[in-house]
Amino acid sequence: MRIRCTWCGAELPSAAGMGRPRRYCAQACRQRAYEQRTVSARAGLPPEAVVVSRPELDHLLDRLFALRCALSDARVVLGEQASAAELRGVLEQVGSAAGELDRLWVTPRE
Ligand SMILES: [Zn+2]
Repeated sequence: MRIRCTWCGAELPSAAGMGRPRRYCAQACRQRAYEQRTVSARAGLPPEAVVVSRPELDHLLDRLFALRCALSDARVVLGEQASAAELRGVLEQVGSAAGELDRLWVTPRE
């Protein structure tokens, strides 16, 4: 499993040796996460709370819906004794719908 920076999502090198695993890729990310926790606490929100605007959330939900549709189409094709070319096509659609969801930030971070 890939380990990612808790703040920016950058992939972290696999933990070498003993000790507590890294959570951040850089001191700047550690600092931003600290600031976010401080602001959340001041606002009475849980430390892991994320504030998302409605348009940003809608965008994310649209992408997840497209992915769900692509997976549904893939199930249909798989049930039809599809050729390798058809399977390759449907797999490409799923990949395209998934896009970079795992790298998506609802609000881009510098
Ligand atoms: Zn980072």
